Amino acid sequence: MKDYIDSLFQFIDSSPTCYQAVEQLGNRLALAGYQERFEKEPWKIEAGGKYYVKRSDSSLIAFSIPQSFCRELPVKGFHIVAAHSDSPCFKLKEKPELAVENHYLKWNVEKYGGMILSTWLDRPLSVAGRVVVRSRNELVTKLVNIERDIAVIPNVAIHMNRDMNKGVEYNPQTDMQPLVGSAMHKDGYLKLLAKEAGVEADDILGQDIFLYNRDQCKRAGLEGEWICGPRLDDLECVYGALEALLQSDSGSGNYINMLAVFDNEEVGSGTKQGADSTFLGDVLARIRTGLQMEEEAYRCMLADSFLISADNAHALHPNHPEKADPENKPYLNEGIVIKYHGSQRYATDAYSAAVMKDICREAEVPYQVYANRSDMVGGSTLGNILMAQVSMNTVDIGLPQLAMHSAYETAGAKDVGYLVRALQTFYCR
Ligand code: ZN
Repeated sequence: MKDYIDSLFQFIDSSPTCYQAVEQLGNRLALAGYQERFEKEPWKIEAGGKYYVKRSDSSLIAFSIPQSFCRELPVKGFHIVAAHSDSPCFKLKEKPELAVENHYLKWNVEKYGGMILSTWLDRPLSVAGRVVVRSRNELVTKLVNIERDIAVIPNVAIHMNRDMNKGVEYNPQTDMQPLVGSAMHKDGYLKLLAKEAGVEADDILGQDIFLYNRDQCKRAGLEGEWICGPRLDDLECVYGALEALLQSDSGSGNYINMLAVFDNEEVGSGTKQGADSTFLGDVLARIRTGLQMEEEAYRCMLADSFLISADNAHALHPNHPEKADPENKPYLNEGIVIKYHGSQRYATDAYSAAVMKDICREAEVPYQVYANRSDMVGGSTLGNILMAQVSMNTVDIGLPQLAMHSAYETAGAKDVGYLVRALQTFYCR
């Protein structure tokens, strides 16, 4: 079975933020014949067509209409895979430059999402994101990525905190500000971005700039069985879903296949481009109008649709097996994880779990199950949030990983291929 690892690494290493991730998705889709549609323009879509639409440069929905589609005999429904483009990191404030005692220059950052703060210390860092610039009479967005090791957040030496190994509480304002140079470089921040964007500093009117870990993805383990890298949550699933969509071509002809990648999962999804927005519902409605579907036929299709929410899951930790549920605990390299939650923070139920297990059986890939320990709260994800906007049968799955929300995470090399194959099987049903 193909393992996709080199291609996954290339995708993650060149996606330092959600903006670059979505740009790459768009490029790959365009190469495969998908046409871009824009929300502020009327859509012309037709049977056999493949399309994608972005919102706010950081979320993207792609879909392909079966060749066989016709108004009188619409397809059965929608087959959707959802994942998220963002990862926990630090966002630079609007005025980020801070001089320290006229010697050092730091950047003033705040937390984006719930990361393990200590993992950002003592690593080569840089910044990437987007700027909005004035260009003639228009405002245009340009992506920027400073591809150099320009920042570091230095630890305090152990000699200055002898109790450090008993645990440290980090204050994001005082402990996590990156050092970027000497104070003489103050007032150079916008110039740095402008040079990268190919514009004048004065023309930059807006910025969404994030710190990112410059370390690249690597294989690890005695036989290269692990993959380590930044942003595996959730770019591993984004990548797997994209590959599956591209390889399934137009699918079986029974369903409209869709890939929905949302920003802002790490901060609650409640933005105009997050899973809790109208984005998915808006795109479904425009597909309906574009294909001139009757309301009744569209409602029937929604009822026969299925959504796979793909977001990474916690594998059993080798040093802390006690953190896992006694039975419902996945391991790296042992297959796709189906996630369950009694209070429905994961959308999986008996029916959707059965569909997913049946997909894995047909794809000949292993699956495992996850539930939190009953005395732990655990995280949430996209599935149940999306259901408030558009309701359909949904399963929450993910790939098993360790150190979720660390600046450098670990997963299993075999699991990526399992995901691509299972999702491809789903898209071909
Ligand atoms: Zn996630």
